[in-house]
Amino acid sequence: MHRTLRILSALLFALPATTVAQGAPRPDADPRIEKLVAAVSPERLRAIVSKLESFGTRSTLSDTVSAARGIGAARRWIYEEFTRSSPRLRVEFDRHHVAQQGRITRDVDVVNVMAILPGRSPRRVYISGHYDTVNLRAAMAAARAPATAGDPQQNRAIDYNVDAPGANDDGSGTALTMELARVFAESGIEFDATLVFIAWAGEEQGLIGSMAHATSLADAKGIVEATFNNDIVGSSLGGNGILDGESVKVYSLGPEDSMSRSLARYIVRIASTYVPSHTIRLMAREDRFARGSDHSSFTANGFPAVVFREANENYRRQHSGDDKIEGMDFAYLAQNARVNAAGAASVALAPTAPVVAGERGQPLIGRGKSGYDADLRWSASPGAVGYRIYWRDAWANDWQRSQVVGNVTQFAMPNVSIDDYVFGVAAIGADGNESLVSAFVSPNRPMSRVKLSQ
Ligand SMILES: [Zn+2]
Repeated sequence: MHRTLRILSALLFALPATTVAQGAPRPDADPRIEKLVAAVSPERLRAIVSKLESFGTRSTLSDTVSAARGIGAARRWIYEEFTRSSPRLRVEFDRHHVAQQGRITRDVDVVNVMAILPGRSPRRVYISGHYDTVNLRAAMAAARAPATAGDPQQNRAIDYNVDAPGANDDGSGTALTMELARVFAESGIEFDATLVFIAWAGEEQGLIGSMAHATSLADAKGIVEATFNNDIVGSSLGGNGILDGESVKVYSLGPEDSMSRSLARYIVRIASTYVPSHTIRLMAREDRFARGSDHSSFTANGFPAVVFREANENYRRQHSGDDKIEGMDFAYLAQNARVNAAGAASVALAPTAPVVAGERGQPLIGRGKSGYDADLRWSASPGAVGYRIYWRDAWANDWQRSQVVGNVTQFAMPNVSIDDYVFGVAAIGADGNESLVSAFVSPNRPMSRVKLSQ
């Protein structure tokens, strides 16, 4: 091709055309998802948090015998509430016999409570929060435990039965999870993916319940399409006095084209259609500074995951006797639940994300016959009726353009440099729902130290 022609065609390609969408497109609304999102009830969220708080403490090492107080009573109630929500839910205790280690100061059963809504395929979409709580200062004071160097939670003298209401941390994420279990099961929608609604225990001792679960899932070669973890999502008033009931933060582990980041970008796109009044603030880090939650048990096992965090936290209330329902805003928690609902329903209805790497992990992207094209290939996603190609400048952090291509597994873009742009592809299902975007990622090139002669 003549040089001028080549430049012209590259320019034309870069300009907006009818088939090329600017930015990541706002998806058309699926009326089933709209209905599901509208079914989220702030009153029910309030009732759940109120009940959770009534157990006094839900510390992982608290009493398990009482019918009214402690983590045993709390988990039995969560189990029963899941069961009452819908006969479509398969409810289970996910029990792990954990040996004494670190903050687990004696052998204990760490019990997650899980409600599964089976889909047509075994691939899973998780929605989660942790139901265990901690009130460290009171626990230390009650036992007159001496302050010791290092991690105070490893002190075996502490009293695990003091009040630890945990209304927001993480009664909010637990209530959101339980409410969405009801809403999804009652929707009557047949999802392609299997939805797992799970309340974790042992989070405050180092993500014990979620890590035990995610590790055994990885060992069993389970497939997780997306994990929506929620930890402290129920208050719109920060400890800094800032009131913000209109945004939520989503943290995701990199690198920039990890599937966790892909999930984060996806949530923004889906929320813009189904919950347009709510702003999603993406954070290009795993979590808040030096803090963590159960999504990390998933990313550690290779599964895509994000965590939702309220816009402005009140750190003083956390892990104290003050984390009570009075500090919460159920209209705000409901909005965060709706964002989760829209995202999880969209992923669960869409086909699985295309596989864009070969068996040896090599990216299925090349420069084509001319040596200057973008030649993209991928594996077909079952149930897909078409695909959408996404691309962006290599320095940009979100997709800038996209183009729907037919039901093909190869597509070439003439004169578009794979050195200058990042490419991805998503699968589109018969009802228009789109998968996460799988990006073509350049493999790491092994580097070695130069050997010098003596
Ligand atoms: Zn928490």
